[in-house]
Amino acid sequence: MNSLIIEPIALANKNGQVTRSCHIVRIDNGIEVDRQVLWFQFPETIDSPDAEDCDSYLLCILMDALTEAREIQIKGSVSLSLLSNLTEFQRAWHMLRPDLYSVVDITVDEIRKEIAEVEGAVCAFSGGVDSMFTAWQHSQKKNSYRTQTINFCSLVHGFDIPLEDTEAFSEAFSRSESVLDDINIPLIPIKTNYREMTQAKWDYAHAIALVGVLSNFKKKAGIILLGSTYPYSNLFTPWGSSPATDNLLGSNHFHVIHDGAAYTRTEKVNAIADWQVGIKYLRVCWQGAKKDRNCGCCEKCVRTQFNFLACGRDIPSCFPADTNLIACLKTFTLNTSGLRGAWQQIHDHALASGIGESWRKEIIRLIRRSQPGLFSFSKKGYVRKKLRARRKMKKQRAVSAK
Ligand SMILES: [Zn+2]
Repeated sequence: MNSLIIEPIALANKNGQVTRSCHIVRIDNGIEVDRQVLWFQFPETIDSPDAEDCDSYLLCILMDALTEAREIQIKGSVSLSLLSNLTEFQRAWHMLRPDLYSVVDITVDEIRKEIAEVEGAVCAFSGGVDSMFTAWQHSQKKNSYRTQTINFCSLVHGFDIPLEDTEAFSEAFSRSESVLDDINIPLIPIKTNYREMTQAKWDYAHAIALVGVLSNFKKKAGIILLGSTYPYSNLFTPWGSSPATDNLLGSNHFHVIHDGAAYTRTEKVNAIADWQVGIKYLRVCWQGAKKDRNCGCCEKCVRTQFNFLACGRDIPSCFPADTNLIACLKTFTLNTSGLRGAWQQIHDHALASGIGESWRKEIIRLIRRSQPGLFSFSKKGYVRKKLRARRKMKKQRAVSAK
């Protein structure tokens, strides 16, 4: 079997920033065929894990190794509980997508003894509905016994905002900072080149990559809160983040909590609608020309605005005011059952509350035209093909009748 080697590099400290990095080396039939550097950069005020600690590197690169069916050799240390969880995580993904993911051996120079877990949590914060809901609910102590103390939130530069777009990141960071300042939670940035070097499918790898990047903060928080995407009532698999697999990304000193799956997106929006500063800076869009703003007309922007309408709330000022939502809604279809379920849920919530009689039927049309197999090609093409087949059949019948 070909292999992938993780070789940690000494920590570097420059201009107030710590850089943790490692070599990722690919070996085919005993010959080195590829060598890259994976790095993370964050403020030096954060107590960093040792250079030899490879938990974050292993998490980030695992999906690539499974895709390429490479055994992993680690020239550093990994926590025993993380290795245990990743054994099960690999099996889960092999079962979900056997066409994409193998199960591979992992060998480690040092299996680390567990360290004491630090109190408090880090919340992965993108400024979207899910992370905003998680930050809001926990900071307002609305989760009963499950409420966590959020020590800080973190925004990753290099995921949805490319590394070279420093202006968009700086804007998104300062907006998120204003939001979190309102609930007295600090925001810490972290930069990584992960997406520039991975070939892993982002839909499936985003949660493991996020935990990998933020596990660099395990000396400052013993828990990571990941805002859920799909609710328990509409779970969609395979998907990178789910209540079934997110808990397998943690260790005994960096637990992962998949947060908020007991709420639909409309219910989450209804909860954060009470947070005026929060919704003023809500950011859900990755498709606009400006990566730190909502375009107003893509599927996610339109869906979120209908989330607000479905619970009887006004559309907040973070969306462009002059958007024709119905016209936008006619420009896209829904590619997955998860998305169709999310729109159905908006419809059902509005129906139950007697809201949106004028637009509910448009949502039903959108869901119908998105059903797989029905209009996987254009409607015109479909009709033409059917008519051609019918004409051909008539012709054949006429010939055989003669
Ligand atoms: Zn948008």
